[in-house]
Amino acid sequence: MTGSASAAPAHEDLNPFHIAQQQFEHAIRYLPEFQKGLVDYLVRPERVLITEFPIETSNGTVRNFTGYRVLHNRARGPGKGGIRYHPDVTADEVRALATWMTWKCAVMDIPFGGAKGGVICNPKELTKDDLRKITRRFIAELGDAIGPHTDVPAPDVNTSAETMAWVFDTYDMMHSGRNNLPVVTGKPVEMGGSFGRNEATSRGCLFCTQHALSRGLVPGLDSVDGATVVVQGFGNAGSIAAQLYAEQGSKIIAGSDSRGAIFSADGFDPDEAVAHKKETGSVVGLPGTEEISNEALLALECDILIPAALENQIRADNADDVKARLVAEAANGPTTPAADRILAEKGIPVLPDILANAGGVTVSYYEWVQNIENEQWDEEEVNAKLLRKMTRATDSVLDTRERINGTLSEIAATRKELGRGNDALASIDLRTAAYILAVKRVADVTLRRGIWP
Ligand code: NAD
Repeated sequence: MTGSASAAPAHEDLNPFHIAQQQFEHAIRYLPEFQKGLVDYLVRPERVLITEFPIETSNGTVRNFTGYRVLHNRARGPGKGGIRYHPDVTADEVRALATWMTWKCAVMDIPFGGAKGGVICNPKELTKDDLRKITRRFIAELGDAIGPHTDVPAPDVNTSAETMAWVFDTYDMMHSGRNNLPVVTGKPVEMGGSFGRNEATSRGCLFCTQHALSRGLVPGLDSVDGATVVVQGFGNAGSIAAQLYAEQGSKIIAGSDSRGAIFSADGFDPDEAVAHKKETGSVVGLPGTEEISNEALLALECDILIPAALENQIRADNADDVKARLVAEAANGPTTPAADRILAEKGIPVLPDILANAGGVTVSYYEWVQNIENEQWDEEEVNAKLLRKMTRATDSVLDTRERINGTLSEIAATRKELGRGNDALASIDLRTAAYILAVKRVADVTLRRGIWP
């Protein structure tokens, strides 16, 4: 969360786009063959749209809103990425999220590029009618900047299947007489949404964790069955992750939302936490649990910590307190580069966002395919395809890490030969491995297509 910078030391740059660029630049050190011009191109978004628009709110006043849609890269297919409604949205946050989408789609090997959207607004202070008007006006302003084969939105923080229904309807009104269903994913199942999409981000995170554990990523922890799990953020990604991990035998010992965190050493039933949040607005107060702080939640002893809220939660100032044996990033950008280094030194592996939360965009891709083909697959089929994709992508990232770490001296020699630097290369973590895999895939396609004109 860009707005949660208050607890961070002054020296840590928490601008999410700077972080995305640092991650990219670190990975590029291991890909010395790529020319500087190509690298400069890939680190920046292709397009940033900023729109100002008014709506008349339910209380009769006129209010202006600022919306962003960023297209980072389209080399491998149409832009793809969610729309976020949050008071802390900034252009750089949307740039970062769009960039991460490019690498995520490439890690998963799905034919999409990266994009993201956001509107600066606080849904807690707006009515449903206001949010519908904001959505319609934002999509109308974007006009042909989005489209089934150019840039395809989806849900993100504070947007839902219902929001996606409004996105579709607005676009359809403006482009009548053709099949517009593939213009947006994450729609309600009754109107072209895919079975399994709502749970896909969390299910993908579970599949990725299960497979990485089965390959021995965490010594002595070979399954989520019996594992203790802490979930930060009980929204779409986090609450469903808690439910799916619990179904597989994990014990959910802590959870949180923007109002606070809860803990029970004996574990709690995530279904009850979801019901309590629905009734009261927060997981806090769930009978049988005690309230703890967000910082205490991140520092709990557990097997698996799942950050599923916003960016910059595990930082230079609190990473050393993390006692989990594995971090599985359901959120985008929850761990800063400085925190990555601290966790690596502590021997805590991180399943990075561009792999661990890619189940959402993968099933969005399945939804897009179903819409284009006018089909509807059943949930078992969707989940079976997701399992295969997540397993393959997790293997690719783990294998890339092994391959790079086994050839560091050769890569350093190539760097020297090509005049890219004469420094020693440290062994890489899984985030860098995922970046290397993704950047190479995007760069290869860019070069095969040829630099236009
Ligand atoms: P959401 O709006 O459904 O839920 C966000 C949750 O985080 C809410 O419960 C909110 O109360 C909580 N939260 C906010 N600030 C917090 C804090 N400081 N501490 C603890 N909890 C806090 O959003 P979502 O769709 O679940 O997205 C969550 C994360 O997952 C985001 O980073 C998003 O980009 C990422 N993600 C979502 C999807 C998807 O398909 N929805 C896909 C990939 C990645």
